[in-house]
Amino acid sequence: MSAEASLRDDIVEVGRRMYARRYTASNDGNVSVRLGAGRLLMTPKGVCKGFMTPDMMCVTDLEGRKLQGDRDPSSEMLMHLEVYRQRPDIQAVVHAHPPVATGFAVAGIPLDRAVLAEVLTTLGSIPIAAYATPSTAELPAAVRKYIKAHDGMLLANHGALTVGRDLFSAYYKMETVEHFATISLVARLLGRENLIAREEVLRLQELRGTYGITAPAPICADPVDMSASGDASIVGASAGASSVGASGDGSIVGASAGASAGDDPATCQFVQAPSGGGQRLVPDSPDAPRASAGQDRDDAEIRLTYRQLSALIEDAIRSLR
Ligand SMILES: [Zn+2]
Repeated sequence: MSAEASLRDDIVEVGRRMYARRYTASNDGNVSVRLGAGRLLMTPKGVCKGFMTPDMMCVTDLEGRKLQGDRDPSSEMLMHLEVYRQRPDIQAVVHAHPPVATGFAVAGIPLDRAVLAEVLTTLGSIPIAAYATPSTAELPAAVRKYIKAHDGMLLANHGALTVGRDLFSAYYKMETVEHFATISLVARLLGRENLIAREEVLRLQELRGTYGITAPAPICADPVDMSASGDASIVGASAGASSVGASGDGSIVGASAGASAGDDPATCQFVQAPSGGGQRLVPDSPDAPRASAGQDRDDAEIRLTYRQLSALIEDAIRSLR
């Protein structure tokens, strides 16, 4: 089978998975992949992604001119073209409307809190591109702000966008975005979101290299110190941590405010991670003292062994490949 035939089959399969997982309804969503030599293979306009066939795909050039195919290319083609222009390293683009992540996009709440190690090592943060009318040139303009430094983003009042070095990598990132959004939603419904301390976030970032993860940009060097904001508990730092009750959560949840002036979304990933005063999520040795029996449960650390942490990260990497 030729490389192009194989990619056509892969797009069909990704479309089927997106529809089966309810990331798209009706004719929503679109997928594209580089064919090499300045050509793209793209889903057509106006078809349900769950019922595509390989012959439906369009071939376009990088300006969006149709080179081959009976149907017209996706109505969101301009957004795809912008991603390929800004990211020569990227081979594939996936756009869908997964309901939980899109709920965050509607609420204006970015997925940028340091809560899951595997998300921090892979996607980093997931910002929200400003609202733009779908299918117009406004959408690529909104995406441009974040795409250089992020492999996944929410689109305000619309959906989500992920990119990857191959088609399945881009698709798996969409799964990660929706999974992360679901976990974040549950934690917030439960009334508490323990954040991973900034020091631990930086350690996780170092692991990217160790595990061969290619992130488009580093985590911003100067994240907000939320320990003073009364917003959320800090994992890995008992001292100075405050906890958030069910009632105190909502007003601050969406706050990206407070990022320093040097935090440019085009060059780094903003992650809300409070300073933990140098304490770490993982103790240095198995003999490290555990939280004392009398310690308030709200302030207790979550402890993972290195083996557990490595397993989490390896799992995430497998799913990205
Ligand atoms: Zn859409």
